[in-house]
Amino acid sequence: MRAVLALTISFVAVWLTACSSKPDAPSASARSNTTYVEIFHDVSPDKLNGLSISPDYLRDVLRMIELGGRKTIFASLLAEWIKQGVIPDNDSIVLCFDDGEPGALDYAEPILREFGMQATAFVFTSGIDDGRPRHMGWDDLLQLVARGAWEVHSHSHTHPILYQQSDDAIREELITSLDRLQRHDLALYAPLFAYPSGTNDPRVQQAVRDAGYFAAFKAGPIPSATSGADLFAIPRNTITQFYDQDLICRKLGVDLKEIRKKLIILEESEGSFDGGWSQIQCTPDAPRGQHGKGYAASKAGNAKWQVEIEIQEAGFYAIGIWLPPIGMKDAPFELRIQQEGLDGSFKNESLPGVRNGWNRLGGLDLNAGKLTLSIQSLGEQPLILDAVRLMRTEEPRPRRRLLNNHNPALRRTTRIVSSCRAATFSIAAARYLAAPSGSRYAFITRSAICEPSV
Ligand SMILES: [Zn+2]
Repeated sequence: MRAVLALTISFVAVWLTACSSKPDAPSASARSNTTYVEIFHDVSPDKLNGLSISPDYLRDVLRMIELGGRKTIFASLLAEWIKQGVIPDNDSIVLCFDDGEPGALDYAEPILREFGMQATAFVFTSGIDDGRPRHMGWDDLLQLVARGAWEVHSHSHTHPILYQQSDDAIREELITSLDRLQRHDLALYAPLFAYPSGTNDPRVQQAVRDAGYFAAFKAGPIPSATSGADLFAIPRNTITQFYDQDLICRKLGVDLKEIRKKLIILEESEGSFDGGWSQIQCTPDAPRGQHGKGYAASKAGNAKWQVEIEIQEAGFYAIGIWLPPIGMKDAPFELRIQQEGLDGSFKNESLPGVRNGWNRLGGLDLNAGKLTLSIQSLGEQPLILDAVRLMRTEEPRPRRRLLNNHNPALRRTTRIVSSCRAATFSIAAARYLAAPSGSRYAFITRSAICEPSV
């Protein structure tokens, strides 16, 4: 008996609004030079909610910056340019890490070093006084700066919404924070300020000037600064885990079409790929080794990737798929799971709901024994995939239950899934492998097994 599961993915479209808005593509001839200013918060492999992003996601964003031909500069250099009224090029980008969360040192710093990129940390100093686990301590900040690619500036002392405060309270925030930083030999010259939550008004701006800051950063939907920007209201914008590649490119001011041209098709696929899949390597030059990374790309419709898996333990499994930001989210595909007595498939018919990063597609009961997992691309567009994950949940779940990461009603299910046994099958398996340009990667590996948590 073969039961057929045809599950449709439907996602809450919080981010769709953003994706469907008109691109704000920079046009070099019509505008003055532009520098984009991005905000990140914590970077953590475990805490993938709200403002924090995973290390893999940060790598993907930095790769898009690299492929987009941008170089990173400190926020202080941008402020100096704006002060002088000239932004000398269109190639610069500022990366900020806000609030002093520990992922800046633990994850962002080594990843930025792989890419040879710089960053600016805006910290609220009472958090630094408190130190770990929730914030970096003063020694951590000094370590960041000692590594040469970071500068540290003020984000107030206690992170209040400043325009809601009294004049005295605002002054206290600004002066205390600057004093704490300077006592630790940070923000000594031309200190910068980032408004907590990005909000400010003329009174707050004046207080920042009066407290001796050189420039200040606010929040803006598209974080582009031109030479005519207000020195005390330079726009920045947050990048979160849930942006798709089009939106990320708009926020970074890079051209996705240009990035795609730089992808190199390495070699034709073999073994369990057929019908026009190949691996791509995203680094046009010889990879620097530490972050060589591959994806699988289908060049035409009906391309199929397939792997056989031995299921050790019968039970309910959730299934997820990783689409890198650079992947084509609009390409239709079918993910199919076949076992004796079971033929289940997930079609991404409502594909605008699929985002980059992990998409938890759904869940189903599996028997012990052999299972065939396949992904077939269904359209003409190329599809770029990175990994598929099968996750055993500890609790029995009804068959055909959708595990929708964006649906608050299903959060509990999602949490159980995230703490369950997981096997990740990397499609291109080239993540983080040191590999000389043009080398052949192993196609399928079981790259991660995490033990169930009690
Ligand atoms: Zn903040």
